[in-house]
Amino acid sequence: MLFCRLAAGRLGDPVVHAGLTWRTPYIPAMRVLIVGGGGREHALAWRFKRDDPSVEILAAPGNPGIAELGECVRVPATDIEALARLAADRRVDLTVVGPEAPLAAGIVDHFRGAGLPIFGPTRAAAEIETSKAYAKRLMLEDGIPTARAEVHTDVSSAVACAHRFGAPVVIKASGLAAGKGVIVCQALDQAEAAIVDILEDNRFGDAGAEVLVEEFMEGEELSVFALTDGSSFIILPSLQDHKRLHDKDMGPNTGGMGAYLPVTVPFPDRSVSGRADHLSSLQDEISTRIIAPTLGGLAARGRPFTGLLYAGLMLTRLGPKVVEFNCRFGDPETQALMPALRMEPSLLQIMAEIAAGSLGRRAATATVSLVGACVTTVLAAANYPDTPRTGDPIELPPITEDGVVLFHAGTARDAEGGLITAGGRVLAVSAVAPDIALAHQRSLDYARRVHFSGCQLRTDIGWREIARKR
Ligand code: AMP
Repeated sequence: MLFCRLAAGRLGDPVVHAGLTWRTPYIPAMRVLIVGGGGREHALAWRFKRDDPSVEILAAPGNPGIAELGECVRVPATDIEALARLAADRRVDLTVVGPEAPLAAGIVDHFRGAGLPIFGPTRAAAEIETSKAYAKRLMLEDGIPTARAEVHTDVSSAVACAHRFGAPVVIKASGLAAGKGVIVCQALDQAEAAIVDILEDNRFGDAGAEVLVEEFMEGEELSVFALTDGSSFIILPSLQDHKRLHDKDMGPNTGGMGAYLPVTVPFPDRSVSGRADHLSSLQDEISTRIIAPTLGGLAARGRPFTGLLYAGLMLTRLGPKVVEFNCRFGDPETQALMPALRMEPSLLQIMAEIAAGSLGRRAATATVSLVGACVTTVLAAANYPDTPRTGDPIELPPITEDGVVLFHAGTARDAEGGLITAGGRVLAVSAVAPDIALAHQRSLDYARRVHFSGCQLRTDIGWREIARKR
């Protein structure tokens, strides 16, 4: 074991003294366990490895793309005890959790109890995502800008609330519902049907024990990521994604068919609100009015949040308002962010410091910028999002387009080692370029050359930003 670690390590920086060059002591390679097996986890593994090729990647369960960067272990992302054993046996320096399910199940609490370093929030802090009712109460109590909403457990009071709010109105199952628990209702009869569906017919099981009736917000959406140790934080460049299956934002909602950055949406014009605002930029406003008070609110309630806080915002005429929080990196936003992010210290160093509880000073001195624009086009399986077909052979041509990176999500190897589809979202094609139109073109050019039967993709990822640039 020790030999393996040294073999994968690297020499320290050269030091010149009295005309002789010495090297500082041997630095063992950092070993990272990535929990999950989707495109987001592949993008994180790719980024860690690109920043420091000596980093050793272990993934559970991983996927064929991650297998090209490290070792994939057949442990499911939700088997917390097996993951802890793996981290201990393999002397993992840091575990990074991709999906929300293990966070909701308390993986961070378990690892910390066993003295294993891990990046992510505790189960209690993760409730900012796993309970929309909890998140809404916190925001309303602490004056964090969000849509007016009420939490109900019985049909008649929920329906009465929907009538008070008027259409359009949004009905949400409170718990985790795999991105399907939100129904934006244009008419009140649709809202009533959604309430009955969730509370009476148990469409989302336990996730629908409480329902949120929420005012409809109008504006552009923005995804904001903050790396945090619970008090200090670093905001990463914001992104937008496309949830609908088809071009022109038509068709059913999905987990996300693409994402892009930068987003240069104009600062919302607040003149209508008559509010004199001294804040100089949208990011300042998001930091001051949303991220800082949310972290403060969680800490004050005894649930300090460590890891990646994802704020899904609506940029309304009255300023940014929270649509939802997530307790982990977004998918497919991470696939667009990782190739374009410029960061010093590296993302992995920052994550390790957060896991060690010592972000403090770093938050003020870390630098974050973009090397260019990035567009990510998702390739989805036949019948996605309903019942995606699996087992279709995939042909991956060589990448000839500049700046293109391919991330695996729902792929697997068949008995002969051929690549086949194995999930709803199969691959993500990210392209970095000096401007968004070129990034879009390159991402689409390669995406169109990938082949598998029934492949679905959007050809207009980034259209809002491309239109702004014209
Ligand atoms: P959520 O899972 O809460 O992010 O909601 C999924 C999607 O539903 C969001 O990305 C929005 O497009 C939409 N949505 C949720 N809440 C609202 C709201 N109050 N007003 C308008 N759209 C909403």
